Amino acid sequence: MRAASLIPSDMNATTPSEWNYWYEPWRRIQCGRCRAIMSTVAPCPVCGMDFSRTPSETIVRLPTGEEVRVTSAFMGADEWTQYSLLQLMFEEWRRPVRDDVLQGAPVDRRASPRLVLVLLFWTHVEVLVERLLQRASEQLPQPIRDDLFASYGSVGSRMDRLSRLLLGASMHDEFARLGRADVAAHLKRVQTARNAFLHGKSESISDALVEETVDMLPATHAAWIELYNDVCARAWQDTLRVG
Ligand SMILES: [Zn+2]
Repeated sequence: MRAASLIPSDMNATTPSEWNYWYEPWRRIQCGRCRAIMSTVAPCPVCGMDFSRTPSETIVRLPTGEEVRVTSAFMGADEWTQYSLLQLMFEEWRRPVRDDVLQGAPVDRRASPRLVLVLLFWTHVEVLVERLLQRASEQLPQPIRDDLFASYGSVGSRMDRLSRLLLGASMHDEFARLGRADVAAHLKRVQTARNAFLHGKSESISDALVEETVDMLPATHAAWIELYNDVCARAWQDTLRVG
């Protein structure tokens, strides 16, 4: 099963004015066995683990003989930093835009008054890239992992050279292999604009790029989850071979 199918079919029914648009793909859990991102109502797309049959609570007997009900707990699909960044992006999108913000520059040098949203998005991408490559390097000894992540410190080098080392191809090529070339192209556009922004060309983050970033967010999430689960599948196959 493709991980993209984790995205509900009614996703298009939501709009960026609704929190669900930003967060829906993360209302999942991580598989307790292979760590793939999965639903609680269907078997894991990688290892087949089925939590839908797990009781919502169990009775535990304490040493005192007392019996207590313990609710089942699962590891969430996202991390707190991701949640925080998505919340901030959502709030930034809903914030009324004042007419006078950044309007002092010449017309051809005006950046989007909502450019913070793209900067937040790119930080979100940096978090996702690190998380995915950390997952891909878990079989390596810790000193080697530490050295790799220190040597490839920028998100650009991680998406390209470190990804080639750990996944066998750049992250852009990996997205294209999974049929997500549109996401790869979008990430390249945002990365180029963000780099230009850092080097003095603030107009590189335009209203059009802000709109594109919001439009592409569900596809970006789906692509990342699909690639993350692909990495989990490789690790799971290695586990089966060894054990
Ligand atoms: Zn699993």
